[in-house]
Amino acid sequence: MADFAFSLGSPSLRLGVTGLSRAGKTVFITALIHNLTHGGRLPMFEPWRSGRLQGADIRPQLHPDVPTFDYRGHVRKLTDARVWPESTRQISELRLTIAYESATFLGRSLGRGKLDLDIVDYPGEWLLDLPLLSKDYRAFSRETLERAREPRRTAIAADWLTHTSGVDPLGPADDEVAGRLHALFSTYLGAARGGSLSLSMVPPGRFLMPGDLAGSPALTFAPLDLPDTGEAPRDSLWALMESRFEAYKDVVVRPFFRTHFARLDRQVVLVDVLAALNGGREALLDLEVALGEILACFRPGHSSWLGQVLTRRIDRILFAATKADHLHHVSHDRLELILRRLTDRAIARASFSGAEVDVKALAAVRATREATVRRNGESLPCILGVPQEGELLDDHLYDGKEEIALFPGDLPENPQALFREPEVGEPAFDALRFLRFRPPPVEVTAEGVSLSLPHIRLDRALDFLIGDRLA
Ligand code: GDP
Repeated sequence: MADFAFSLGSPSLRLGVTGLSRAGKTVFITALIHNLTHGGRLPMFEPWRSGRLQGADIRPQLHPDVPTFDYRGHVRKLTDARVWPESTRQISELRLTIAYESATFLGRSLGRGKLDLDIVDYPGEWLLDLPLLSKDYRAFSRETLERAREPRRTAIAADWLTHTSGVDPLGPADDEVAGRLHALFSTYLGAARGGSLSLSMVPPGRFLMPGDLAGSPALTFAPLDLPDTGEAPRDSLWALMESRFEAYKDVVVRPFFRTHFARLDRQVVLVDVLAALNGGREALLDLEVALGEILACFRPGHSSWLGQVLTRRIDRILFAATKADHLHHVSHDRLELILRRLTDRAIARASFSGAEVDVKALAAVRATREATVRRNGESLPCILGVPQEGELLDDHLYDGKEEIALFPGDLPENPQALFREPEVGEPAFDALRFLRFRPPPVEVTAEGVSLSLPHIRLDRALDFLIGDRLA
C-alpha cells in the first residue's frame, strides 16, 4: 500500500487523474487544489464537515523528470482572466500536503495529521494503448481498418482509406509513404474525436497528443491492409510499419505503464458524458467501449505484462461525469445514472472484488447559476451564465459579456432508452442545448480575501477519493 512509501514523516497517496481529451482534467485538478488551499465549502467531505480539515499547501513534487502541473498559471487564467486554462497534453504532477486533525485518539497520539497527496494528471488516451501490447501489427491493422469502415466513420476516414488501398504493403519501405499515411490516419483520428462525432475509441493514444515525440519514427506509422497470412518481406513498407508499431509499444506504451501508471494508489476517470450524448447513440456506445478498455487497465490478469509490473494495487476508482453545471440540478442524478449505465458492464466484467468503484456527476468549476423561467405558461428549469465570446446558438453570436438564461433540456429518467434505437413512435433523445460558459467570478470578502471556486459535488468526489485517508 501507499502509506509511508516515500517518506517517514507523512503518509502519501498517489492519485491519478485521467479522462479523454477535454473531459475536464485540468479544471478538476485546479479546482480541487483551489478548494483545499482556499478553505472551499465542502460539506460532503467528512474531514471538512467535522471541522478537522486544517488546510493544504503546494509542495515540490517528487520526480525531477516529470513536468509540474501548472496550478498557479491555471488559476490565474480561471480567476483573473475568467477564461478556461489550457488542457492536458502530457503527464504532469503536483504534491499537495494536507493538514488535518485525526478523528481518533490513537491517530492523534501517533501524531497523525498530514497527508502528502501526489496528483498525477495524464491523458486517458494513453490507457487505450494498453490493448496494443497484446496485439501484433496485423491484428492492430485489421481492427483499426474494420473500425474505420463502420458507417459512422467512413466519411471522415475516406481520404486515409483510399490512400491506404492505393499502397502496396509488400512494396519498398519508403519513409515518405509512411509519413503520408501516418498524417492521413492521424487526421482521421482527430476528426473522430473532435467535431460533432465525439468518438472515444481513437488509439494509438499519442497520435492525437504526440508531445515531444512528434515526428519520431516510433510515432510515424499507420495500419496497412495486409494479407491474412505470411510474414513481412525484408525492407518492405509492411516491415517498416511493423517495426515502428513495435517501437511504439517499447518506447512509448510500456514505459508509461511501468513508471507512472504502476505507482498509482487511486484513480479518478473523468468523462464528458454530455459531449457523447450530443454526439448521439454511436458516440455513447463508442464511449462505453473506451471506458471498458480503460477499466481493464485497472484489473489486468496476473499473467499479463501489466499484471506483472504493477507494484501496488489501485483500491479506489471514481468515474465522474464532468460539467454538470451545464444542466439544471434536476438532471444531475440522471447524468450519474447514464454514467453508471456506461460503466456497469465493464465493472461487472472486470469483477472488481478488490477495488471500490463509484460513479458521480460533478462540476469541478460551476460556471452557471439556476433560475426558473416562465414561458407560455410553462416553467422551465434554466441555467444562467455568461457564454464565452464567439459561442453561437440559434444564430446568436455571444460577445462574452452578457448573461443569459438557457433551458438546456432534460436528461431522460431512464438511461436505457439512450442506448437502443427508438421504438416506432418513441421520440428520439433531443440533443442538449449546449453553450460553453465563461468561468464564474470569484467572490472576494469585505476583508479582500478571495473565496474558493464554486463547484457541484466536488466534495463528494473528494470524500470518496481521500476522505478515509484523513481519518
Ligand atoms: P482536459 O483535456 O481533460 O484537461 O480538459 P480541461 O480541464 O481543459 O476541460 C476542457 C474544457 O471543458 C474547458 O476548457 C471548459 O470549457 C470545459 N470544462 C471543464 N470542466 C468544466 C466544469 O466543471 N464546468 C464547465 N462549465 N466547463 C468545464
